[in-house]
Amino acid sequence: MNLILFGPPGAGKGTQSALLVERDSYFQISTGDLLRAAINKQTPLGMQAKETMNKGLLVPDDIVLGLVRESLGARGQRSVILDGFPRNTQQAEALWVVLKELGIKINAAVFIEVEKEHLLKRLLGRRVCQNCGATYNEHFKPELKTGVCDLCGGAVVQRADDSKEVILKRLETYEQSTLPLKDYFSKLGILKKVSGIGETEEVYMGIKKFLN
Ligand code: AMP
Repeated sequence: MNLILFGPPGAGKGTQSALLVERDSYFQISTGDLLRAAINKQTPLGMQAKETMNKGLLVPDDIVLGLVRESLGARGQRSVILDGFPRNTQQAEALWVVLKELGIKINAAVFIEVEKEHLLKRLLGRRVCQNCGATYNEHFKPELKTGVCDLCGGAVVQRADDSKEVILKRLETYEQSTLPLKDYFSKLGILKKVSGIGETEEVYMGIKKFLN
């Protein structure tokens, strides 16, 4: 059962993907994570993407599509979660071509719904472990010792694009480019909706409902 997880920034796509990987052996492809890894490694692609990401804009479609294509090749026998990709209808169109080539079918595009008023607080409070990627939130789920990951002891920091100015731009980009995917997936008959408000476990159970 291959999935697309989409929704506004701060909806909890990364958190839910991590649970699906851990508990259900999914293979996660997060274009945001892949881009941040390229930035950390200072690859030419990372250097190219960094400025765009820090402005809250979308990285060019061909770059992210290349990353996704490469990652799909590494999935083995596992079912795939596409987390944060596609981000606009052009990417979705390009994705179908790649999936057809690889003989992969997407069974559901799960939209995690969270109203705008919750997103800013969530994103401003978000903290991420630089080492293992575990996520925390200053308001809802702080690490036991500030700045130190509970799981691996790595440094817990704020993402470069989680400043108020960039968050507002990302939300605008989302509304313009990504939100139209709701109609797009609905027309294809694969749209599923789950509320992203509430406990992580409740949201997870909501997603699992579509997988059974
Ligand atoms: P995320 O980690 O999903 O919040 O993504 C962080 C940033 O990476 C976004 O604000 C974009 O700049 C970039 N990005 C991630 N996924 C995509 C995508 N599918 N297309 C274009 N840019 C992306």
